[in-house]
Amino acid sequence: NNHATGFGFGSSFNSGGKIPLGLKRKGLRIVVTGGAGFVGSHLVDRLISRGDSVIVVDNFFTGRKENVMHHFGNPRFELIRHDVVEPLLLEVDQIYHLACPASPVHYKHNPVKTIKTNVVGTLNMLGLAKRVGARFLLTSTSEVYGDPLQHPQVESYWGNVNPIGVRSCYDEGKRTAETLTMDYHRGAGVEVRIARIFNTYGPRMCIDDGRVVSNFVAQALRKEPLTVYGDGKQTRSFQYVSDLVEGLMRLMEGEHVGPFNLGNPGEFTMLELAQVVQETIDANAKIEFRPNTEDDPHKRKPDISKAKEFLGWEPKVPLRKGLPMMVSDFRQRIFGDHKENAA
Ligand code: NAD
Ligand code: UDP
Ligand code: UDP
Repeated sequence: NNHATGFGFGSSFNSGGKIPLGLKRKGLRIVVTGGAGFVGSHLVDRLISRGDSVIVVDNFFTGRKENVMHHFGNPRFELIRHDVVEPLLLEVDQIYHLACPASPVHYKHNPVKTIKTNVVGTLNMLGLAKRVGARFLLTSTSEVYGDPLQHPQVESYWGNVNPIGVRSCYDEGKRTAETLTMDYHRGAGVEVRIARIFNTYGPRMCIDDGRVVSNFVAQALRKEPLTVYGDGKQTRSFQYVSDLVEGLMRLMEGEHVGPFNLGNPGEFTMLELAQVVQETIDANAKIEFRPNTEDDPHKRKPDISKAKEFLGWEPKVPLRKGLPMMVSDFRQRIFGDHKENAA
C-alpha cells in the first residue's frame, strides 16, 4: 500500500476499521477533527484508553488545548493545528468528523466560515477517507429537523428548515454535509456513518458559549439571574456527554450507516431546566426573561428506537445525575482552586 506509514498498524489499514473476527484487536489510527472541543475531547479520552492512536485535528476556534493536555507526551496521541477547510494528508483507519462550532453564538459569529467548515471541511475529510479507505463518521445534528412539524423526531422525517435564516449556515450546512456523506458512500464506496446529535451537556463545555445549560449553570454559580429566552415554554432534550460518546463509538464500530438520532428523550421546557439548575446549585437563583432569538425551534425530542434496535444503545444518565458532574467542572473553572468562593 502506497500510504503505509510504518506506524506498525498495517494490518488494520484499509480495513475500514473492521476488526477481523478471532484476531486480537490491534490499536487503530483514528483522526478526530474538532477533538480539542467539548464532545471531541471526551471521545479522545475513550479512544486513547481503549488502546487506539489518536490524531486530533483542530483549529482551536472553540476548542482548547486544556481539554486534551492530559494526553501530551503519550506516543499514541498527536495534536495538529489545522483548519479542515484546507486539504489534509494523513494515513488513518477511521475519521470521526466533529470539527464545527456547535453553539448558536459561535456558529453565527462568522456564518460564512461555518458553512465552509460544514461543506468544504466535510468534503475534504471525505476525500481523505476515500483516498485511504478509512471509515468516516459525521456528527450531524438534530437541527437538520429545523422547527419540526413532527414530534418526537424520527430519522425518516425530512425536517422544516429555513434556508435563508440566521441558523441556516449551521443547519443547512449540516444537511449538505449529510448529502456529501451519502454521495461519497454511494458514489465512491466510502464506509460512512451519520449521527444526528441532540443537545448535549457536560464537563468541558465552553463556559460562555451561550448555550442554555452552560449559561444557566454559570449564571447560578456566579449568583446572576438565569436568562430564560422567550416564554421559556420551548423544549429541548438534554443528553449527558458520556452517553453520546458511547453512542458515537457503537455507531462507528457497528454495521449501520444511519442516520441515527443520538439524544436523551427526557424533554424539558427551559423553565423546567431552570428549576433543575436551581435545585442543583442555588434555590434562590432568580429568573430573568429575555427576548428569544430568531428561528428558535419550539420543541425537540429524539425518537431513539432506531439506535436502540440497531446499536443496542440508550442514554443512561438523566439530567438530575449529569448536571452535578458538569457543575463541579464549571465551579472549578470559574472559581479556580479557591473553593471557598464557590460555596
Ligand atoms: P465544540 O465547539 O466544543 O467543538 C468543535 C470543535 O471543532 C472545536 O474544538 C473547534 O475548535 C473545532 N473546529 C471548528 N471549526 C473548525 C475548522 N474549520 N477546522 C478545524 N477545527 C474546527 O462543539 P461540540 O459541542 O464538541 O460539538 C462537536 C460536534 O458535534 C459538532 O460538529 C457539532 O455540530 C456536533 N453537535 C453537537 C451538539 C451539542 O449539543 N454539543 C449537538 C448537535 C451536534
Ligand atoms: N482531500 C484531502 N485529503 C486527502 C484526499 C483529498 O484533503 O487525502 C481533499 C481534496 O483536496 C479535495 C477533497 O478532499 O478538495 C475531495 O477529494 P476527492 O478526491 O473526492 O475529489 P477531487 O480532488 O477529485 O475533487
Ligand atoms: N435559551 C435560554 N436561555 C439562554 C440560552 C438559551 O432560554 O441563556 C434557550 C434558547 O432560546 C433555546 C434553548 O434555550 O430555546 C436551547 O438553546 P441552545 O442555544 O442551548 O441550543 P439550541 O437552540 O441549538 O438547541
